Order: sequence, then C-alpha cells, then structure tokens
Amino acid sequence: MTSLLPSARLLIGGKLVEGADGVFATVNPATEEVIGHAANADAADMDAAITAARAAFDDTDWSREHAFRAHCLEQLRTALGAHLEDLRTLTIAEAGAPAMLTRGPQLDGPVADLAYSAELAETYSWETDLGVAQPMGIKTRRVLRREPVGVVGAITPWNFPHQITFAKLGPALAAGNTVVLKPAPDTPGCAAAVGAIIAEETDIPAGVVNIVTSSDHGLGAQLTEDPRVDLISFTGSTQTGRAVMRSAATTLKKAFLELGGKSAFIVLDDANIAAACGVAAFSVCVHAGQGCAITTRLLVPRSEYDEAVQAAAATLAGIRPGDPTDPRTVCGPLISARQRARVERYLEIARAEGGRIVVGGGRPAHLERGFFVEPTLIAGVSNSATVAREEIFGPVLVVIPYDGDDDAIRLANDSPYGLSGSVWGTDPERIRRVTNGVRTGTLSVNGGVWYSADAPFGGYKQSGIGREMGVAGFEEYLETKLVATAG
Ligand code: NAD
Repeated sequence: MTSLLPSARLLIGGKLVEGADGVFATVNPATEEVIGHAANADAADMDAAITAARAAFDDTDWSREHAFRAHCLEQLRTALGAHLEDLRTLTIAEAGAPAMLTRGPQLDGPVADLAYSAELAETYSWETDLGVAQPMGIKTRRVLRREPVGVVGAITPWNFPHQITFAKLGPALAAGNTVVLKPAPDTPGCAAAVGAIIAEETDIPAGVVNIVTSSDHGLGAQLTEDPRVDLISFTGSTQTGRAVMRSAATTLKKAFLELGGKSAFIVLDDANIAAACGVAAFSVCVHAGQGCAITTRLLVPRSEYDEAVQAAAATLAGIRPGDPTDPRTVCGPLISARQRARVERYLEIARAEGGRIVVGGGRPAHLERGFFVEPTLIAGVSNSATVAREEIFGPVLVVIPYDGDDDAIRLANDSPYGLSGSVWGTDPERIRRVTNGVRTGTLSVNGGVWYSADAPFGGYKQSGIGREMGVAGFEEYLETKLVATAG
C-alpha cells in the first residue's frame, strides 16, 4: 500500500479524485524521510464531500437497509484483511507505530472489530413497543424508533489512525449514517488507503463514505460549521474539542468528543510496589506515550516513594527507543519535530519548577535521525506541577506521593481530565472503594484490559462527551423517535 501513497487521492461521491490544492508530503517520523504525497483538499472539495454525503443519506435507501449495511461492513473487513500487511507497512512508516502495536489496537484489532458493527446493524432492536397508555385520557400505543442521525462529520488525530477511524466508521455506518472523514494531516496515507479500498473493493454506495485529506486544519472547522452535517464525531486534543463544540453550537449539531487525558496509576500500599511501578513505566513508553488513555501520573504511598522511583527508573532505563519496524520495539518516535519540541518544552518546565529528571530527559544518543525522545521519569514534583496537570503526549512519567487511600483518590481526581486510570493492590474492598472514587471513563485493576469492541470508551470531565465503541458508542450515532398512535 505504500506504493499507493504517491497517488493517494480523496474519496468523494464514490470517486477517487485529486485534491484541488495539489498534494502534501507525508513523513516517516522514524527516518524523517518523505514517504509519499497525499491529495490536498481545499474548501470546495470539502463542500463537495458534504454534498455527496447529504445526497447519499437523503436520496438513497442506505439508512433503511440494515442487512445491506452489515454486508458492506463485513466486505470492508474482508477487503482490509486482504491488504493487512501493506496497511501494516504503511501504518508503521507513517504513524511511527511500533510493529508490535499494529498486531493489536493500531490495526488488526480495529479491522476485526468491524464484525461487531456489522452484527449490530443486523441485530439491534430498531423498534421498541412501549405499550398502550392513556395520556390525557387518550388511549395511545407508543412505539420508540431509533434512526440514524444523518450526515456524520468524523475528525481524527494521528496517533491511532485506524483504531479511531474504524471506531467511528463502523458504528456510524452500521447505524445507517453517511460520513465525511477528515483525518489528521500527519497520517493522510492511512486514511487514503482505506478510501481506495472502500471505492475499489466494496459495495458501499457512492457518497456513503467520503474521505478528505488536507494539510489545512480549517477543513475540520468547515465540517463543524456546515448546516448539512448533523453530528460531529471528534477525537483529538481538549483544546481543539472546545473549538469544535463552539462551532457546532452555531448550527446546534451534536458534538461527540473524545479528548485528552492525564490518567493516574494508583499503587496501593498492599501491592507489589516494584512490580506495579515497572508496569506503569512500561505503559508510558508504548507508542512513545502517544495515547490519550496512557497513565502518566504514578501515585505511590509516600512511605514507598523511593522504592517506587527506583523501580520505575530501572524499567524506563531498560527501554531502548528505536526502529518501529523492529518487532521488539515498544517505544518508537514521536509523530513530528513539532511534537518532539512540545515534549522537550515540558521537560524544561519540569526542571524550571524544581522537578528532578531521574532518567531520560533528552534525545537518545544512539539514534541520529527520527523524532525520538528518551523514556523519562520526573520525580520531586507535586500534583500541581505543570507536568502533572497537562497532557505531554510523550514517554514521560511523573511520580507523585500520597498519604492514604483517600488522598490517592483526591489526587487522581485533582485533574481537569477523567479519561482512564489504573489501580494496583490486593484487598478487593480497598480496590472497590478506590475504583468507586476515581471519576474516569475506564479503569484497569491489576493490569485488566478495558479495550474491546463491546466495551464503551470515553471520558469524564474535560476528557470528552459521549462514548465510543460498545452499544453505547453505536447509540451515539442514533436519533430517537417516538410514534404515538391513538386507538
Ligand atoms: P488535534 O486536536 O490537534 O487534531 C485533531 C483533529 O482535529 C485533526 O484532524 C485536526 O486537523 C482537526 N482540527 C484542528 N483544528 C480544528 C478545528 N478548529 N475544528 C475542527 N477540527 C480541527 O489533536 P492531535 O494532536 O491530532 O491528536 C492528539 C490529541 O488527541 C491528544 O490530546 C490526545 O489525547 C487526543 N486523543 C484522544 C483520544 C480519545 O479517544 N479520547 C484518542 C486519541 C487521541
């Protein structure tokens, strides 16, 4: 599929077309080499994509053909499966995703999960009989219908290009909507490859899926403002999420937001402290820390602080960032020079605020090229330090001491975010109290995995509005209609 990149095109109204603004380069973050060019759409292209999606929703039977939609989603899954190795090569090269991760949530997992959406398209209860009642004395049968929202504007970030694309496309299409997808400018090739497969290898009707790659973030804003778009499904930073919500308000469309995080990893004092801190340190290196749900604040009992710092530092020091094509690599590059500069700025802030960089803190000496940062541990700061409050999006862990379980809960919640978290301990009652107290959308206990097609994912507080995946994620793409018939 990398060979497709030089001619990566937009998908608009069922056709693969050039972008009106020419092309823009996409760069391998591990080598800094240009690996291809993607079509650069302009505002008129985006307008055409919205027109096509609107017509496909309003003028065809797509929204009513449940079995056909299930067939199309299964067909898409099979077609993607046939190109899996090419897609893997492309995803590693363009997103800097470690090969290991593409076997799970970066590629294989979300492709397989399309089966879950296909099944929902066929098995979901679209109609529920609420029975007969006599409101205001009039005997009435009430039927509840669930219907697609209409045209969905899907806006995605670069860190998990396929996972986020399919977590939106799957349920949006299964529910009977049509979609305009605007991927992040850093990973246009991954989206364009999906567009080519949809156009050439599936029966998905023209206009049902439109994919508009562009170097211009303004096209995302255009999608949020257009009155013909009924719902925005957005994944990205909290800052952009606020802009999306503001602009969606002008046409009062629903904005479904999956945003940033600063999740806590709580180690209770009855846990194996060294083992738990090792896991926390390893987790923060996965995909170089570029995951919204990664637990980047390690909360440890004050009495165990030194042991915790030592254990986390030992693990981080043993993780060698490197070539994402190597199947042993856990920590690849950051996506861009801009993102690396952002992480390095946070490391400067940590130092300026009196933080101690226990391990890492610079660029790996053994790598001459690529946007790499060393796995880094910051100690000696409180939960009010900038690096404990803001999302860094790099392989950086901050260790913070707490005094007692209530204090651990208080610190975990003392954050504008509430996306995920982890609790390690042995006493089930204490674990239950802590999981009850932490205000966050997902929680892992002793290494449990919450990621799965049937499990809803999303955030409390400024980590988002709504849930992706699971039945809850599917229902985000539905409207509710109540039909009341007298007699
Ligand atoms: P970003 O917010 O910069 O960009 C995300 C997308 O929004 C891109 O496609 C971008 O072009 C588009 N965009 C930019 N300005 C816009 C505007 N005004 N209106 C509409 N669209 C606009 O995010 P990023 O840097 O690409 O991704 C990293 C962020 O994504 C992190 O904060 C991370 O936590 C978050 N994220 C969240 C989840 C989740 O499910 N909660 C998952 C992955 C990533």
